[in-house]
Amino acid sequence: MKFLITGGAGFIGSHLAEALLNQKHEVFIIDNLSTGRLSNLDHIINNKKLHCCIDDILNKSVLNNLVKKSDIVVHIAAAVGVKYIIDNPLLSLETNLVGTQNVLYSANEYKKLVFLASTSEIYGKNSKELLHEDDDRILGTTRISRWGYSTSKAVDECLALAYSREKKLPIIIGRFFNTVGPRQSERYGMVIPRFIKQALLGHPITVYGDGRQSRCFSYVLDIVDAIIGLINCPKAKSEIFNIGNTEEITIEKLAQKIKAIVKSDSDIVYMPYNKAYEEGFEDMRKRKPDISKLKKYINFKPKYNLEAILKNTIECFKA
Ligand code: UDP
Repeated sequence: MKFLITGGAGFIGSHLAEALLNQKHEVFIIDNLSTGRLSNLDHIINNKKLHCCIDDILNKSVLNNLVKKSDIVVHIAAAVGVKYIIDNPLLSLETNLVGTQNVLYSANEYKKLVFLASTSEIYGKNSKELLHEDDDRILGTTRISRWGYSTSKAVDECLALAYSREKKLPIIIGRFFNTVGPRQSERYGMVIPRFIKQALLGHPITVYGDGRQSRCFSYVLDIVDAIIGLINCPKAKSEIFNIGNTEEITIEKLAQKIKAIVKSDSDIVYMPYNKAYEEGFEDMRKRKPDISKLKKYINFKPKYNLEAILKNTIECFKA
């Protein structure tokens, strides 16, 4: 099969490209290298079945050509990281809204299956015990960039669902929860790469807020397995899936754990959200996915627990 991965030089996209090439598929990548890096593809760049196009999904004709050549489109290109979104609100919205519209428009021209990478940011401040795919989205004011981002990803989902209903375009929506692993940069604000880097350098480990907010982290290879599993599952068409892990940890405990694994002398310091992000910033107290639907459809079970995720990621950072 021929796959097009938008954002294929990014953290998740590059791992997916590698897995698909290992399965002998042909892979086209389009990436503008805004947050992706060519070095993410170093180990596969000489594979004859990989075709890289350094361009933007806002460039309709280039995108259209690539979609035409492919059988399946995995649309991952999007702004990443809460910090990045706050620093680049306009570009983030444009990529999510116009970029996704372009991808769906082209895919519909040739009726190609689209896997749309969405996000748990969709749920906003809904901090219920387990977030189910049909749960309410609870968002704050549009003045906060995070909620603008959440809204833009929700519009992406709505567009994909509308294409599916009205135009019979085959689509699958996957909502990624916090994902970590090798090649994730600390530059865009994600907590685990930041804590690892701080711990390795002996710098203060910066816990935002009171540190009692919790998250569930997934290893990128589990996420890649889920994407491929869903693409190969005929019943998954037109459906939305949470993709994540259910092992939960508070950010304060995460800092202590990383400090211990690294055997770091770093202090753990607390920083108010307003200072870390922007005035009025709002965080979710908890974000845990209900993954029973993913289990039901593709028998998904994460292979990596938090201990393994942290050890593997720390080793890669050291290297
Ligand atoms: N966080 C933190 N210190 C950092 C970076 C992030 O305490 O240096 C916190 C952040 O406020 C959030 C959690 O860690 O509560 C996860 O942040 P991340 O940006 O990785 O993901 P998200 O907020 O999207 O869940």
